[in-house]
Amino acid sequence: MTATAPREEQLWSRCAGCATLLYRKRLRRNLDVCPECGVHSRLGAPDRLRQLVDPDSFRPLPDDPADVDPIGFVDVVPYPHRLTAARTGTGLAEAVLCGTATLGGHPAALAVMDFRFLGGSLGCAVGELITRAAERALEERVPLILVTASGGARMQEGVLSLMQMATVSQAVAALREAGLLTVSVLTDPTYGGVAASFATNTDVVVAESGARMGFAGPRVIRQVTGRALPDGFQTADFLLRHGQVDMVVPRRALRGRLVALLAAGRAGRPRPVVAAAPATSPPVPRQPTPRATTTTTTTVDPPAEMADPWATVRLARHPGRPTTLDYLESAFDGFVELHGDRLGGDCPAVVGGLARLDGRPLMVIGHQKGHTTAELVSRNFGMASPAGHRKALRLMRLAARLGLPVVTLVDTPGADPGVGAEEQGQAAAIAENILALTVLPTPVVAVITGEGGSGGALALAVADRVLMLQHAVYSVISPEGCAAILWPDRSAAPQAARALRLTAPDLHRLGVVDEIVPEPADAAHADPDAAATALRDAVRANLSPLLDLPPATLVRRRRQRFRRFGAARAGNRAGAR
Ligand SMILES: [Zn+2]
Repeated sequence: MTATAPREEQLWSRCAGCATLLYRKRLRRNLDVCPECGVHSRLGAPDRLRQLVDPDSFRPLPDDPADVDPIGFVDVVPYPHRLTAARTGTGLAEAVLCGTATLGGHPAALAVMDFRFLGGSLGCAVGELITRAAERALEERVPLILVTASGGARMQEGVLSLMQMATVSQAVAALREAGLLTVSVLTDPTYGGVAASFATNTDVVVAESGARMGFAGPRVIRQVTGRALPDGFQTADFLLRHGQVDMVVPRRALRGRLVALLAAGRAGRPRPVVAAAPATSPPVPRQPTPRATTTTTTTVDPPAEMADPWATVRLARHPGRPTTLDYLESAFDGFVELHGDRLGGDCPAVVGGLARLDGRPLMVIGHQKGHTTAELVSRNFGMASPAGHRKALRLMRLAARLGLPVVTLVDTPGADPGVGAEEQGQAAAIAENILALTVLPTPVVAVITGEGGSGGALALAVADRVLMLQHAVYSVISPEGCAAILWPDRSAAPQAARALRLTAPDLHRLGVVDEIVPEPADAAHADPDAAATALRDAVRANLSPLLDLPPATLVRRRRQRFRRFGAARAGNRAGAR
């Protein structure tokens, strides 16, 4: 593994599965699968490509990533130092290799992730490169193959890394619309934001033998539930049993299976493109200031003297803070709650239904927490289960069918870190919502009202306009979770909160949030009625300019909004800073 390994270890390596000492060359000939016990070792992207594509057919796409450090992140080491070390250690520019190639003579575009590079984490450059691979597939009308290996979103790039889940998903959506086959190959390990987006919202999901995939990692789930995990939890066979992947394929059969898929995918095409929005439309340059489409009365200038982000985190979590049901009562009229995902569940952490604003009917969907411990427990602290995501999806689609705009209220610590949620396909449920929102032909306004926690929040926040209450937070990971990974311990949460740039003024500056909704003097919990009025005014002001836009224009602009968060040098786009 390490560059300084002694010579014998380069000739011989010990199997992680059965501890047999194996002659390295023999192992290589066997595609890095142990001939004794069948354990598949992890492959870097270059080796993986060599195993999959026809010899000499790979043409790399330019991968000149910008030196992105969009939020100036420092934990115990500055992020640029980690990037440099990863580049030196792997010889790669980023955690993904993209290009075109043929497999058994069939052309395809490929993006192959490399776990050795900062855990295969999804940052702005990775998102950009994979999106370009998808755009190349669309241009050349060839299938797209995504080989995933990732711990999740790259927390050193803050919420901008979360945005990449939407960026890549909408590129996958464009291929779907064009009738082009998309295939993901899950390799070990595939977790977090990658699992909850393009790893699972493709047409065909193939898992390599032994690969593990899930949204929450086993360590986190064990910690939260305090229980031992079932045997084989989140492994390829577990995923197959729970209906989350199409097939489990051993490495030696992987290339053949992909060739067969490409051959079949070719037979049926082409279907005419009816896409509302080609994803190849020129990217919109980043705008340093918000688009001035709304009244200025609801915009707050970021105060010169900023509150400590950790204090903001605590305000965002205040038990007295108005919940989605409170806002439905106070800021909207005539709420009729709709229940159920029609697949066997009704998640109490997500509420939604028909309501009115100024007499105009709309669909409101939001996370529901509570004010007392009993309420919080009964609502699972606002952490949606897969059934909750699927209920939200059902209501969004219903809104689109009825021609109603959608308003989402986001207030969740994150998705549900439980065994059941993983068994029921949490990653795929989030991924499907993100993809569905990128193509939903009706106006969508999202408001981060309290905590916007990771993929669970994004599943309701891919919108035409994203608003954020003044004391809300929006983050790729909780400060506690980030501290536990990058600092010596969780007590560094306040430092992590500062490093993550999760406050409304930060995110407004980064272009993730279009407008900050002011809160009453002592925050929303001190005067819920005033908070409701501010929320209603902001939603009204942001929704009305969207109402007369043709759906195709809406969808095109929404995609451009999320397309601009990528970053790489080639393609003359300004970096995300
Ligand atoms: Zn072995």
